[in-house]
Amino acid sequence: MTKPFRTLDDMGDITGRRVLVREDLNVPMAEGAVTDDTRLRASVPTVTELADRGAIVLVLAHFGRPKAPTPDLSLALVTKAYEQVLGRPVRYIDWEGAAEAVATLRPGDIALLENTRFFGGEEKNDPAVVDRFAALGDLYVNDAFSAAHRAHASTEGLAHRLPAFAGRAMEAELEALAKALGSPEHPVAAVVGGAKVSTKLDVLKHLVGRVDHLIIGGGMANTFLAARGVNVGKSLCEHDLASVADEILAAAERAGCTVHLPYDVVVAREFRPHPATRTVNVHEVAADEMILDVGPAAVEALGDVLKTCRTLVWNGPMGAFETPPFDTATVALAKTAAALTQDGSLVSVAGGGDTVAALNHARVADAFTFVSTAGGAFLEWMEGRELPGVAALMR
Ligand code: ADP
Ligand code: MG
Repeated sequence: MTKPFRTLDDMGDITGRRVLVREDLNVPMAEGAVTDDTRLRASVPTVTELADRGAIVLVLAHFGRPKAPTPDLSLALVTKAYEQVLGRPVRYIDWEGAAEAVATLRPGDIALLENTRFFGGEEKNDPAVVDRFAALGDLYVNDAFSAAHRAHASTEGLAHRLPAFAGRAMEAELEALAKALGSPEHPVAAVVGGAKVSTKLDVLKHLVGRVDHLIIGGGMANTFLAARGVNVGKSLCEHDLASVADEILAAAERAGCTVHLPYDVVVAREFRPHPATRTVNVHEVAADEMILDVGPAAVEALGDVLKTCRTLVWNGPMGAFETPPFDTATVALAKTAAALTQDGSLVSVAGGGDTVAALNHARVADAFTFVSTAGGAFLEWMEGRELPGVAALMR
């Protein structure tokens, strides 16, 4: 079936062609060593496929947020680790003399170009910077979904200057996301949790029109509960958003979307590991208590909701999962979703920085259909926004 976007399958014969591949290699480092190589690994299928097909592979990536070129944010620091992950030699190429260096490469060679953000115009999508990049290659592949919400020279500008294709990681991500919210099998459930309603208003507004069940947990549930007249004590709560919360509930009602708020919660007087806790009905929270997790009865009921659903999209933990025992609801619901996915009855897609950490903590990330490590891009996609880096790859 033809995909809505161009992929590596549409490139034809690329022997000897110079392919600029935008990857996300923005890895965390400590004392000169890469501490998490997830992003390096994600780029392997595309880079090795292009090299094996005889292309001259020129990897483009940003690294940190340099204000100006600086040795501590040079991609030269990542080259060794990248060679290890790829299991092949990687030639590091500085911007100075890049054209001459590229001219010496042979088909099948892999090079890592210097930090794209060493050009001030990268983030401004400056045509002059697009020209600098485009002069080095014949074709362009974007494999960095996590950077696709930004219209930068290397993520968007280039796609308009050279024939542009989605890499394998980008392709997998776009397909998983389409399955979850583009044309999902119904009923669809969305779990939205995390700290604050204010950071996810657009997500909630978009979801109520698309999903059958909206499960609200985490700190943001408190704002909804308070809007409904529940006394949430000292819980994290955005009281000034009560009317916005009411509007979202009304929009859900109009759209036929059932909103699930917790009816029992786990509360404590102190926010620290293993304090004294109580599990109470939401109407029994004392003035000096904080809601830090969804209660066991609500979690069980939510698990039953998931059992009736075919699709799940999840962003945001159900409680303050970093602090035990307030990981209980998140872990339990994640395990239910994972089991349903393994049984083949649920397509489960999750994303968000803390959500990925929570699913890893629950040891279920591999059991979900797809877990997106793209923070900002994933949220913008959940808001229903068109991502410029993706739009530029459409047929
Ligand atoms: P993501 O990064 O996945 O989008 P968020 O950043 O929105 O998620 O929210 C994650 C944070 O929300 C976590 O640090 C978690 O501790 C916090 N959180 C969840 N529930 C509560 C709660 N009831 N009270 C305070 N913080 C909470
Ligand atoms: Mg977060």
